[in-house]
Amino acid sequence: MSNLLEGKSALILGVANRWSLAYAIAEAFRREGARLILTYQSDRQKLTVESLAADLAADRVLACDVTQDQDVDRLVAEIKAGGGRLHAVIHSIAFANREDLSRPFVETSRSGFLLAHEVSAYSLVTVARAAAPLMTEGGSITTLSYLGATRVVTNYNVMGVAKAALEAAVRYLASDLGPKKIRVNAISAGPIKTASARAVKDFASVLDFVAQRCPLRRNTEPAEVADTAVFLASDLGRGLTGNILFVDSGFQIMGL
Ligand code: NAP
Repeated sequence: MSNLLEGKSALILGVANRWSLAYAIAEAFRREGARLILTYQSDRQKLTVESLAADLAADRVLACDVTQDQDVDRLVAEIKAGGGRLHAVIHSIAFANREDLSRPFVETSRSGFLLAHEVSAYSLVTVARAAAPLMTEGGSITTLSYLGATRVVTNYNVMGVAKAALEAAVRYLASDLGPKKIRVNAISAGPIKTASARAVKDFASVLDFVAQRCPLRRNTEPAEVADTAVFLASDLGRGLTGNILFVDSGFQIMGL
């Protein structure tokens, strides 16, 4: 432990299970001395996330479906009522209909397109707007993106388009919130086996492809993403905002 986040409070959205990138980030934040507030989407996940939160010695576990404005408002009100200030927010949330991650992109329905964008991109705007007033000493907001934002990745489809919107939102939010000393960045992670990733058809072949061709010749580990999130939330990251940091064993630099 080097206590890089000592004295900081972090709101982490997106812990679903032990394989979630948000869980790895929460573990690393805890290791570095941060106080944690976790969220779960609905009653279906409440007990699981509460049990994970106990393992992480999180201070609080609150409900928040990011598509519901009243949930986001209540989340902020509850943090405020607990006397809470925030120094870091992790937005580790995405969703698209399974059929939109397995058929040609051209067949994406209007409702599937809007759903993916609402949950995976617009939610960063809602969360940033709600959290900013609690970040009275400035702070860091970090989201999770993927190479499919800028390159075509078979079957990633509408999620790639949503990640492009998310990355653009990172830049606009960074510009808006910079004067309040709030930094906004994204980590573009290499493919990692999680519940969300498994929804993408043939995801296992993506893992193999990347491991064979990337400079480090291995897949990305959740702990590598988590340590980068620690860096961004810590004072070491104080000069960075509006960036997309690739934590992907170098895969994104490769051409032929
Ligand atoms: P994950 O464990 O399935 O996490 C996704 C989270 O999003 C879950 O906690 C899920 O909650 C939550 N979520 C979905 N809809 C929500 C809503 N309406 N309100 C609140 N929460 C909602 O998968 P993950 O791979 O760690 O994904 C985390 C982030 O990393 C995502 O943005 C993903 O795109 C990104 N990412 C992943 C990879 C990868 O290969 N795994 C690579 C690059 C980027 P429920 O499960 O309770 O619905």
